[in-house]
Amino acid sequence: MKNVFLIKYGELAIKGKNRYMFENRLLDTVRKNLKSLGEFAVKKEQGRLIALPCEDNNVDIDLVIEKLQRIFGIIGVSYGTRKDELSMEAIEELAFYHMKNICSEQGFVTFKVKTTRADKRFPIKSMEVSAKIGEFILNKLGDKVKVDVRNPQVILTIEIRNGVYVYSTTSVGAGGMPYGTNGKATLLLSGGIDSPVAGWMIAKRGVEIDAVYFHSPPFTSERAKEKVIDLAKKLAVYTGSMRVHIVNFTEIQTTIQDRCPINQLTIIMRRIMMEIAQRIAAKNGSQALITGESIGQVASQTLHSLVVTNEAADRPVFRPLIGFDKIDIIKIAEQIDTFNTSILPYEDCCTIFVPKHPETKPKLEYIKKSELALTDLEEMIARSLESCEIVDV
Ligand code: ATP
Ligand code: MG
Repeated sequence: MKNVFLIKYGELAIKGKNRYMFENRLLDTVRKNLKSLGEFAVKKEQGRLIALPCEDNNVDIDLVIEKLQRIFGIIGVSYGTRKDELSMEAIEELAFYHMKNICSEQGFVTFKVKTTRADKRFPIKSMEVSAKIGEFILNKLGDKVKVDVRNPQVILTIEIRNGVYVYSTTSVGAGGMPYGTNGKATLLLSGGIDSPVAGWMIAKRGVEIDAVYFHSPPFTSERAKEKVIDLAKKLAVYTGSMRVHIVNFTEIQTTIQDRCPINQLTIIMRRIMMEIAQRIAAKNGSQALITGESIGQVASQTLHSLVVTNEAADRPVFRPLIGFDKIDIIKIAEQIDTFNTSILPYEDCCTIFVPKHPETKPKLEYIKKSELALTDLEEMIARSLESCEIVDV
C-alpha cells in the first residue's frame, strides 16, 4: 500500500491531438512545483496524474495539496492510498484502512461507496464493486459506520486504473489550462487592483505572460515600483516565474503635460503605453497585450476612450475584465492574494498626472492632432526602451 496524490485535470482531456502536449506540460509543472516539498514520482495514469511520495519520505500533505491546487489545468486533488494489484482483496484492504482511519478521527460516520473503473480489464462492474465494498465495510466496522446514499458524511471513492486507489476528499484546483500551452502575451501591470487579476485570468487559460510597468520617478516612488514587483511575485505563485520590464515614463509624461491639452493627457499617455508595450512584446515573441480595463470604470475607460486607446495597438489587446464590476474583480483579487498588495497607498503615474476634467468622449482625429506636438516622440520612446530595467521574479 502506498500513499498517493491523485491529480485530476479537466478540459485538457478533450483537446484531441494536443492532449499529449498539455499532459506533458502539466506533468512537467507538477514535478517542478513539488521539487521543493520532497521527493515524488509523478506519472500519468489514464486521465490522471499521480504523485507518489518516495518511501520513507515525510511530506506535508496540506502543503502539497495547496501547491497543486494553484497549478493551472488541475481541477482537483485527492490524497489517498494505492495498490498495484487489481483485485477485490486489494480494494478491500485499502477501503478498510481508509474507513478505519476516518472513524478513529471522526467517530461514527455515515458513508457511501463510489467506484469508477477506468480499466475495463477489471471484471467486476463499478456498481457491484461499490455494493460489495459497502457490505465489507459494514461487516468490519458495523457499530462505527452506517450507509447513507443520499447525504453521506464520507464518500469513499474507489478508482480502478493501472492500480486501485481509495480516497474520500477532493480539494478544488485552479482549473484552466496548463501554463505555457497557449502562446505568450504581455501584461500592462500597474500597482492597481485590476491588472494583476487580468493577468491571472489570461495566464489561467495557458498563456505565458510577461509584464510591463511604467514608472515616473521622482513622481512615483521606489515603493510603488517595489509594489508592482511584489504583485508580479504573487502572480508567479501561479505561473512559476515572470519577467517584469520596468520602463521609465517620466520624460514622456512630462512632455505630454507640457505640450498637449490637459484634458487629453490620460488618453494620450495610455496610447503611448500601448505603443511601448507592443514594442517590448514584439521583441519577446509575445503575440498580444493584456490590460485591466473595464468599461466605464474611469474616464479613460469609457467606450469612446477604449476605442481610441485600442487604435494605438497593432495586436490584439485582451481585456478580460471588460464586463466585470469592481466588486467582482476584488473578489478574485482576494482569492488570488493580490488584493492586500494592490491597495497599498503608493502613488501610480496615472493618479499623479490625472487631469481635473478628463475627456470622456475623445475623438481619434483630435487626439492624433494633439500628438503631433510630440515631435520627438520616437526618440523619447527609444530612450525609455534603452533604459528599460528587467526584473525576473
Ligand atoms: P489597475 O487597477 O489595473 O491599475 P485602474 O482601474 O487603476 O486599473 P487605469 O489606471 O485607468 O485603471 O489603468 C487601466 C489599465 O492600464 C491598467 O489595468 C493597466 O493594465 C494599464 N496601466 C495603467 N497604468 C499603468 C502603469 N503605470 N504601468 C503599466 N500599466 C498600466
Ligand atoms: Mg491604475
